[in-house]
Amino acid sequence: MQKAARIVVVVFDGLRPDMVTPDRMPNLFGFAQDNLWFREARSVFPSMTRVATSSISTGAPPAVHGVVGNSFYYPAVTTGHILDTSLMADLTLAESALGGSLLCGETLGDRLAFHGKSFAVVHSGAAGSCYAINPRAAANGHWTFSVLGRDASRTPEAVDEMVARFGPLPPRNLPRFEETEYVTRVFTEHVLAEMDPDVALIWFNEPDTSFHYKFLGSVETNAVMRAVDIAFGRILEAIAARSGGEETAIIVASDHGQISSSGVADIAALLTEEGHAAARPADRPIADARITVTGGNMGEIRMVDGDLDRRDRIARWLMERDEIGMVFTPSEDPVHGAVPGTLSLALAGMDHARQPELVYVLRSGAEADPYGLPGLGLITGGVPVGGGMHGGLNRHELNTVLMLGGAARAGASGITDSPAGIVDIAPTVLDLLGLAPASSMRGASLMHPELRRAAPLYEAFQTRNGAFRQQLQVVRRNGHLFPMHGGRLG
Ligand SMILES: [Zn+2]
Repeated sequence: MQKAARIVVVVFDGLRPDMVTPDRMPNLFGFAQDNLWFREARSVFPSMTRVATSSISTGAPPAVHGVVGNSFYYPAVTTGHILDTSLMADLTLAESALGGSLLCGETLGDRLAFHGKSFAVVHSGAAGSCYAINPRAAANGHWTFSVLGRDASRTPEAVDEMVARFGPLPPRNLPRFEETEYVTRVFTEHVLAEMDPDVALIWFNEPDTSFHYKFLGSVETNAVMRAVDIAFGRILEAIAARSGGEETAIIVASDHGQISSSGVADIAALLTEEGHAAARPADRPIADARITVTGGNMGEIRMVDGDLDRRDRIARWLMERDEIGMVFTPSEDPVHGAVPGTLSLALAGMDHARQPELVYVLRSGAEADPYGLPGLGLITGGVPVGGGMHGGLNRHELNTVLMLGGAARAGASGITDSPAGIVDIAPTVLDLLGLAPASSMRGASLMHPELRRAAPLYEAFQTRNGAFRQQLQVVRRNGHLFPMHGGRLG
């Protein structure tokens, strides 16, 4: 049964739910009071944008969609460099090697197209993130606009149309005020007011970008949070102004959170010093590297020649280092990784055929950053120390904003601690339109009353090797595991 005439999805990249406060985001805070807020919603691991975007579109963890990192070494596509999923050139390379989309499984866009439903996306994130939200947008007959231009959209005519109507694309400044304004106009004045699609989605690149480079609680970051909140207020007004606005379902989400960085541990450099010549994503070609290493505050390590003895030595070396928070390896076992002391990638939802031989997460904790926000951890680099980062399993990286409003509220309101996550967005959108989920989806429709009030049952799994002890907390719901929080013990 169809429960809503139309759906509007609003995504704030990187937004932490504990930062949705009356002073920072009054419109969104007010919306949360009137609607249903899944306060313990979770991202996936790794909690990175393209991985999480793929989980939003496929309704499934990386174990299903196979985008196992923002960057990952993927010899089936190229042995020349580490695949960078932010770049359209690398996505095109992957598509030609794989004979189809980089994402495995069916997406929300695919299901909507199958049922003849329209889907419009307005995006201000990287080309790869814009791609992952509806990889087959053109074949599906859908409409995707990227504020980064024609080359960042699989339906470049959408960019041409909007430039003709609203003028040249805005400059890229930090914070991204101009881009926020431009995409808000496209979404409210064009998509909602005129296109009137069955499903409309807008993706704001803030506050993520400012968290990274201007720090989580800074004056400038607070200013851009206010700007996207004002944009949200305009979106609510535009929905109300549509005919049948009250029959619109509104889903507000973020893809992951962030924590502040406290220092640098350059794992690739340290491993090279140890005799394991390491290539990073920027190394094109990877030349005579023995291993590939990605970074952020976690990363994958792959053996270029498949030498598992080297992998085992590196895993043991990592577990001896104070900077390391967690270590994972592939395994048939649901909990224990192949190397003693490591956790299984299956427990974190990363056990895809493309999974790496080794995953590390840098140490992080619940300590407050200089702005009083909990969550502090090491990074390999990439942003200034003090800047925000995400990718790991700290609760403040994994905890996402997830709110259901309008017709999606279905009489409920207030805060629920029921287990939920970004994997539930696609099944919920489909259910609102009276459509079944794809068989590859592992999330569930949050319109089911029992999923709105279930109390989370935490399970904790620990492994150890010498002084190294780590723990991952998960919640199980109908066979799907939500990683809730992980880190080193002691
Ligand atoms: Zn993101």
